[in-house]
Amino acid sequence: MGIFAKPDLDIDWQEYSNCLGVDPDLFFPERGASTREAKDVCRACVVRADCLEFALQNGEKFGIWGGMSERERRRIRRQRALERAAAAAKTG
Ligand code: SF4
Repeated sequence: MGIFAKPDLDIDWQEYSNCLGVDPDLFFPERGASTREAKDVCRACVVRADCLEFALQNGEKFGIWGGMSERERRRIRRQRALERAAAAAKTG
């Protein structure tokens, strides 16, 4: 998949991506199109967690990363923000 990394982010895991050589368009489906095929590739990927974390930290807004859609990643980011806020409220 065509991943564009910021220079300071670790991307060594990409060498082990299950999507190497797979058509990148599969991971950036048109709005409303099925994400199933991409998610099937991700499901068997050994670096899935790294990929997802990269997308979350890099604020990737488009495409399937770590087997998750933009909407699914947004939910995780929201959840993490809530957890951070709760932790900050406890300490501060
Ligand atoms: S989780 Fe999916 S998008 Fe990420 S590296 Fe693996 S196959 Fe590619």
